[in-house]
Amino acid sequence: MADLSTLGRRVRHFRTAAGLTLDQLSDATGTAPSHLSLIENGRREPRLSLLESIAAALGVTSATLLDPAPPTARAALEIELERAQASPTYLELGLPQLRAGKTMSEETLRTLVGLHRELERRARQSIATPEEARRANTQQRLEMRQVNNYLPELELLAQAATDQVGHTGGALTHRTVAEMADRVGLTIVHTDDLPHSARCVVDMERGRIYIPPASIPGGHGLRSLALQAIAHKVLEHRPPADYADFLRQRLEASYFAAACLMPREASVAFLSAAKRERSIAIEDLRDAFGVTHEAAALRFTNLATEHLGLTLHYLRVNGDGTVTGAYENDGLPLPLDATGSTEGEVVCRFWSARRAFARRTRTTEHYQYTDTPAGTFFESTQTGTGTPDDFSITLGVPYGESKWFRGRETQLREASTCPDATCCRRPQDGLAERWEGKGWASPRVRTHLFAPLPHGTYPGVDDRELHEFLEAHAGIEA
Ligand SMILES: [Zn+2]
Repeated sequence: MADLSTLGRRVRHFRTAAGLTLDQLSDATGTAPSHLSLIENGRREPRLSLLESIAAALGVTSATLLDPAPPTARAALEIELERAQASPTYLELGLPQLRAGKTMSEETLRTLVGLHRELERRARQSIATPEEARRANTQQRLEMRQVNNYLPELELLAQAATDQVGHTGGALTHRTVAEMADRVGLTIVHTDDLPHSARCVVDMERGRIYIPPASIPGGHGLRSLALQAIAHKVLEHRPPADYADFLRQRLEASYFAAACLMPREASVAFLSAAKRERSIAIEDLRDAFGVTHEAAALRFTNLATEHLGLTLHYLRVNGDGTVTGAYENDGLPLPLDATGSTEGEVVCRFWSARRAFARRTRTTEHYQYTDTPAGTFFESTQTGTGTPDDFSITLGVPYGESKWFRGRETQLREASTCPDATCCRRPQDGLAERWEGKGWASPRVRTHLFAPLPHGTYPGVDDRELHEFLEAHAGIEA
């Protein structure tokens, strides 16, 4: 069945082909010309009896009139324009509705339709669906695995930036970060009214980085935020074209920030010394550079393969066992969904990442050996308390490399056969029968990692909030 717009155009097409005017068709069908005109414009639905008499007058069947195909290529374009102008994307722009009448040239019509197609494509692209987001994220993880999580050009850029301000080791101070910002023409402004969808806002026109007040706990986070903003400027990032581009920019910015906080030369020297002493520990790297455990572990994944010759895995896991961040190039069998994504999947309950939560004292790292179908790994895990959930940070290496790490003498050894469901997912023998049909539970609402993101230039950030914020602050003296 054709829609009214197509039906109307088919009626007009066959009327013109039959050489009839509206008045003549009116005479032949006993229907007012105005009513026929409304039908041809797709604004009235003809009753079946009327459709049959129209068809008879035009020498076609009513099935011909009801065919869902536009009668001509031009009509197809007209219909497409009409539909595009009725789409939410177009209506949002508040522009006039153009009528694709006879007077509109074919060229104009083609141009308009072409622009509408592109507008729709871009609108679709900027709304990252959870599935698109997951795919882009997986793609990026696999690409980074290819290069051992190491980006030499960013190392060089970060080195140039830190050399300029004389940061060669130890903790990077807020003061030095401010100096680094200044060198690229940016001023750090602390403000407590950031849009709630943004952690940090940059006004490129005025050269300002807006971040929360320094009094908010988590000083490392603030230095990192400011460094990421500097990175966007240094790397000349433009508004992302799509979600994959957004992820790439975010990765580059955090890589640059980490490489400034933990410069390559100093970090590699520190880690090489620890390796010689057979005492590599993420907690030491963390303390030496005054960063979070998570930042230190991630930075270790950048440098370990390239500079220490170690393959490894990194996991950030929530208290409920779900992965919120993962990287491996040592073959650890990460839990994956059908698309190959690991974020949001649950890791084996016998892995260090989850066993560490069971400990009473969490002041030091938890060490254990984990047997998996892909071999045995040595893992160290640090747990942390966060909002909304506790989390653990794990760094692991193949068994043979444990000799370089602190904690290798641990007697803890766990066996995991995941992804085999009998490992830790299927209830133990007898329990399933015991409770069948007698148990019920309501799921805790998961914080979705890739919940549909607000429709804007930067996924997750509300454009209106962002622009109102920038406008409000543009007039204030920095
Ligand atoms: Zn398991």
